[in-house]
Amino acid sequence: MSQTIRIMCPNLACRKLLAVPESARSKTVRCKACHTAIRVPDAQTQQTTNETPAEKAS
Ligand SMILES: [Zn+2]
Repeated sequence: MSQTIRIMCPNLACRKLLAVPESARSKTVRCKACHTAIRVPDAQTQQTTNETPAEKAS
């Protein structure tokens, strides 16, 4: 089975969320909406830095 990676288009006027196949890692894909070339990051860049796990207000 093939997983998909989600990347956001770097074009600020577009910012479309693109789903690309695992096989596209370290390659360049093109945004379907604005045709900007986007480099798909390698496996290691899968950390959730911006998300805090379930905020609990006590
Ligand atoms: Zn785009």
